[in-house]
Amino acid sequence: MLAFSQQPDDNGYVIVNVYEELVKQNVLEMMNYMNMCSCDKCVADACALVLNQLPPLYVTTRKGELITQVHQTTQDQHIDLTVKVIQALQMVKDSPRH
Ligand SMILES: [Zn+2]
Repeated sequence: MLAFSQQPDDNGYVIVNVYEELVKQNVLEMMNYMNMCSCDKCVADACALVLNQLPPLYVTTRKGELITQVHQTTQDQHIDLTVKVIQALQMVKDSPRH
């Protein structure tokens, strides 16, 4: 599993690109659905492919508050995102780099 690049302190705030978490969730979900390799390398490659196509969308958040933010901020983008995720997974599946 990928970890957040910025882990919050107990009381600290962090800035997070909400797409990072949303894309990661989508990638893991669709990998399972497509019955393909879900090693760290393939997950990271697929996430990078999708995230490079999206504008950054940073929010300020605290530990435990991220998931709510992700759902609130990106609900409208979900279908478009799923298409991008599937395209990225197909590329990783065709030429895995693990
Ligand atoms: Zn792999």
